[in-house]
Amino acid sequence: MKKIFIDTLGCQMNKSDTERIFGMLSHFDYEAVEDEKEADLLIVNTCAIRQLSTDKAYSRLGNWKRLKQDKKKEGKSIKIGICGCVAQLEKEELLKKFPAVDIVFGTRNISELPSLLKEIENKRICATSDNPIVENDYKISRTNSINAWLPIMEGCNNFCSYCVVPYTRGRERSRTIEAVIKEAKDIIAQGFKEITLLGQNVDSYGKNLEDGTNFARLLSELDKLQGDFRIRFTSSYPTDITDEVIEVVKNSKNICECFHIPMQSGNDRILKEMNRRYNVKQYSEIVQKIRGQIENVAITSDFIAGFPSETQEEFQDTIKAIEELELDYSNTAAYSPRPITRAGKMTDKFIDENTKKIRLQILNDKVKEASLKSNQKYIGKTLEVLIDSSKDGVYQGRTRNNKVVHLIDDNDYFIGQFINAKIERVSTWCMFATRAE
Ligand code: SF4
Repeated sequence: MKKIFIDTLGCQMNKSDTERIFGMLSHFDYEAVEDEKEADLLIVNTCAIRQLSTDKAYSRLGNWKRLKQDKKKEGKSIKIGICGCVAQLEKEELLKKFPAVDIVFGTRNISELPSLLKEIENKRICATSDNPIVENDYKISRTNSINAWLPIMEGCNNFCSYCVVPYTRGRERSRTIEAVIKEAKDIIAQGFKEITLLGQNVDSYGKNLEDGTNFARLLSELDKLQGDFRIRFTSSYPTDITDEVIEVVKNSKNICECFHIPMQSGNDRILKEMNRRYNVKQYSEIVQKIRGQIENVAITSDFIAGFPSETQEEFQDTIKAIEELELDYSNTAAYSPRPITRAGKMTDKFIDENTKKIRLQILNDKVKEASLKSNQKYIGKTLEVLIDSSKDGVYQGRTRNNKVVHLIDDNDYFIGQFINAKIERVSTWCMFATRAE
């Protein structure tokens, strides 16, 4: 058996890709190791969303170059690979920049990996072509025993002005409904209790298929599967969420009441500069519509602080939006220029690092405040909790609307158990509960 080590940076889609690489290569006599020093093949699965993540990948390659040299002195040969979004973006350039790298493969070349690995015995290669989605029966080495990621589509056609995803993951493509349902059935049969459907824009699911499938139909079909399980999905583009999707979530048994809807800014001019196809009023109407129909629904979001040309007043609009929309939780980031994007070229309008840092801190404080307020709404309520871990004798789980719950009673639970729990008290990031019948 050859040994493989993968360092995965970035989002859930990358983590899911890594699980698929490990699973696929296990059919070709590779086994995963946790110590990079033991590996015959080292791969960094990269993220290009921020410069910091790209730098991290470069630094990994630098360390591995030294490891490769040390191994060579011991008479051993190791191979180094780079995949993911940086690989897709920089292609052959990476072979020039990093002479120790043997293989660069893109986000749409993973299924070719077994044959590519044979080729690198004799030469260095770069494979970053725009292949169609390939279905196979290889196993998937999932890391979490409760929650399974299930990619339903990849790529994006939106070209938000700050985002590299359309350049790294390409245009939108959906897996067939048959392939997604088959994988979901396998996941449930293997005992997983939660399935998270992944896509850059899940509401676009099916648009490139010719069978009339859409995201609402996919959700509806998945909801009908037999077994004790939950379904989550991420992410939703605000104006692509249809009434049909809201209706399916509302009437479903297994689909969690949780929408992740990145807003990015609370100011209309900045949204336009970001090439987002909605304004604050439209975003707010979608939030109200979902809240009006689905009880206990959580709405989470993403925000960028210090987008090029953002004034202090415009930034304050974002703070106001988080408060007024009562968002349950938001991911935040300071704007990081990606040179290939339209915003990355607005160099004369970049906000200085210190101002971005200050704005990010203010944003984080507001998110904290909003999260506490959101949690407080549930004190005294009984919610379904899926137990997913235990630490220092305290069982932990998540509600359907994705709130972290600590069980503060003396009951014994098991990982993967669904219980009803009464929320006794809350903090900013979690809720404390006792079992309810
Ligand atoms: S919708 Fe999301 S993935 Fe697509 S370009 Fe915009 S930010 Fe990037």
